[in-house]
Amino acid sequence: MIISIASGKGGTGKTTIATNLAVALSTEVKLLDCDVEEPNDHIFIQPEITHTEKVSLKVPHVDMNKCNLCGLCQEICQFQAIVVVGKTVLTFPELCHSCGGCMEVCSEDAITEVDREIGVFESGSRNSLEFAYGRIFVGQVMAVPVIERVKDAVQPDKINIIDAPPGTSCPVISSVKNTDFVILVTEPTPFGLNDLKLAVGMVKILNIPHGIIINRSDLGDDKVKEYAKEENIPILMEISFSRQIAETYSQGKLLIEELPDWKERFIHLYEDVVDYARKS
Ligand code: SF4
Ligand code: SF4
Repeated sequence: MIISIASGKGGTGKTTIATNLAVALSTEVKLLDCDVEEPNDHIFIQPEITHTEKVSLKVPHVDMNKCNLCGLCQEICQFQAIVVVGKTVLTFPELCHSCGGCMEVCSEDAITEVDREIGVFESGSRNSLEFAYGRIFVGQVMAVPVIERVKDAVQPDKINIIDAPPGTSCPVISSVKNTDFVILVTEPTPFGLNDLKLAVGMVKILNIPHGIIINRSDLGDDKVKEYAKEENIPILMEISFSRQIAETYSQGKLLIEELPDWKERFIHLYEDVVDYARKS
């Protein structure tokens, strides 16, 4: 089973849910942090990393001794990543989407592919919990290839918990697609509701069963609950604001290890998710 934890905006408590759920279940579980711009599950999990690899994209390199300046590569590139300027061909690797189109159209075989490192993938474990995450390098914008590398580490025989990036853009879609259930974490505020609606729209298009967790549930209004009722979306958990919870998070600690009862709540959360996923 693959469960994604997502949210329409950052700072809703997505990491808290992903890490505590993973550790509460612990055996036969893999936690995959796909929030590659700002991965922080490892702060709470403290895994022993046993494997590290660079994530690269293929980008074009032009041999000007072979190039006849025909301009076909520039014509086919949708991203202005390769341009003929005077008597040379310039490439802009940071704009390149590695489609290989320029290489295909070059009749002179002047273009070869070279690796451009954009991030890193690491994996390891914490006791029986397996863990993997990706991180894009500062200044890089291509999050999806790093996310795809992390998702390659999904193990179908385990419970896989994916911590998706916040928002509803391509990296989020890449993280949650082909998963069995999406837990949407939100707050009971107008911003929270607005971003929740966008996230619900996304998972509906992807046709993935989903439910809602309301964090800091006692601080706002009832509009998220009313919306969930209207849309027939289950509310899986409500977490009241608590100084103790905030302190536990800020110290990089897990709720289930610091506060009694929380382990049981997260195990029930998993059982509910399995139930809803089966019924959908
Ligand atoms: S398609 Fe090949 S030959 Fe033509 S401009 Fe580009 S690199 Fe040069
Ligand atoms: S590989 Fe694709 S995106 Fe990259 S420069 Fe060539 S045509 Fe453009």
